[in-house]
Amino acid sequence: MLKYSRYNHLVRIPDEEAFALVNFRTGAVARLSPVQKIVFEQAEDLPVSAKAIQKLRQGGFLVDYDELRHMRTQIFSAGGTGRALGLTICPTLACNFRCPYCFEQARGGRMTPEVQDAIVAFAQENMEKFALHRLTVTWFGGEPLLCPDIIENLSVRLMGICQKLGASYAAGIFTNGWFLTEENLALLERAKVTTIQMTLDGATPETNDHLRREAGGGSSFARIMENIKKLRPYAEDKAPHVIIRYNMNRENAPYFGALAAKIEAAARETGVDITAYPAKMDSSIENPQHIRDAALSLDEYGRLASSNAVLNIKTPAHFRGLYCMAQYPHAYAIDELGDLYKCLELVGRQEFVMGNVRSFRPFKEPAEGIENMDRFFETIFPEQDAECMACKAFPLCLGGCPRKRVAGERSCLSLKSDLDGYALARYRETRSQDK
Ligand code: SF4
Ligand code: SF4
Repeated sequence: MLKYSRYNHLVRIPDEEAFALVNFRTGAVARLSPVQKIVFEQAEDLPVSAKAIQKLRQGGFLVDYDELRHMRTQIFSAGGTGRALGLTICPTLACNFRCPYCFEQARGGRMTPEVQDAIVAFAQENMEKFALHRLTVTWFGGEPLLCPDIIENLSVRLMGICQKLGASYAAGIFTNGWFLTEENLALLERAKVTTIQMTLDGATPETNDHLRREAGGGSSFARIMENIKKLRPYAEDKAPHVIIRYNMNRENAPYFGALAAKIEAAARETGVDITAYPAKMDSSIENPQHIRDAALSLDEYGRLASSNAVLNIKTPAHFRGLYCMAQYPHAYAIDELGDLYKCLELVGRQEFVMGNVRSFRPFKEPAEGIENMDRFFETIFPEQDAECMACKAFPLCLGGCPRKRVAGERSCLSLKSDLDGYALARYRETRSQDK
């Protein structure tokens, strides 16, 4: 028997005599006139053969199966994520910034040649043993561009393995942007780094620099904006996609629009795809009091984010399987000592180490750090969490950040508090693609 999907959301389109119908699981979007809305509201009683019913079925608005059970099946039978090796590599945990909200365990020291050799051997062994057909590398830190020589050495060798095995290779970097010199940009091009993520937390030195603090006291805003303007499309291969993260709180929220305008102008000037998006600044207990005091509530952030019409960047359009790398079977964050973690935000925290790249062999007895691995896999499809199972946002949120869940917290997606706003943003996004 056909019934309404639990993930349908119907909202009136402002200034129009019409409604947007969005399904959060399939991503399907429909525009309903008032008459069509009435038909939709009686759809469960109409004959299955009716044309309108067939269309609603295609979009997943009407279903005759258990959607939660089906999503669980999709997750556990997903082959795609299981066939890739994902390595987040930190050549150093040192950083030239002193941001007050930084979660990282900063320490000096660089990755030795011996650890680099062990990473190459680990990558090759895993790709061969598990017949993996893709390697994704993310350069992380500390500040990874403090060690461009290590990025160069490892990139050449890891790309060589992929070439030998006929596997594909992709790379990205998280950088504070301070060292994005012409020379380092050329290195990133050689290293096939196609996603560059940086952070700016204001639209001017006055609004940004106290949050993005350079250790030597220089204005990080001025230098990073200059560096952004040095970006160029790559000569061959894919052009880089540059993402500017804006850690938004109550104090800097009013300046996001001005920064986004500057970034848009830089994108036009450089010919590079650069986008800025607001992320909710973490209000966790480890942060200083003034950062916690300025934190936005989920509801406030949800409203600000949707009013900036950036949900399409931050939020998936439909159910996508796994939340993040921490749940992928062959994904690891590796620090400069070669220690392995499931989540990049835990790098440097001894209690979350799963083993060392020199000796760790996944799924093999005796398993090192098995608890630290298993706890992350247990976050996949959190059936024991009744609130998530009943939540309309579940197909998009999947129960939130696994690291927080492991710590006993639930990190709700901001759109949970603004489902109307999200549905309208999705509706507008699909309409603009249709044009
Ligand atoms: S577990 Fe959470 S913090 Fe870690 S990578 Fe995933 S989303 Fe990010
Ligand atoms: S974490 Fe929150 S938003 Fe996400 S599925 Fe659970 S209840 Fe919904």
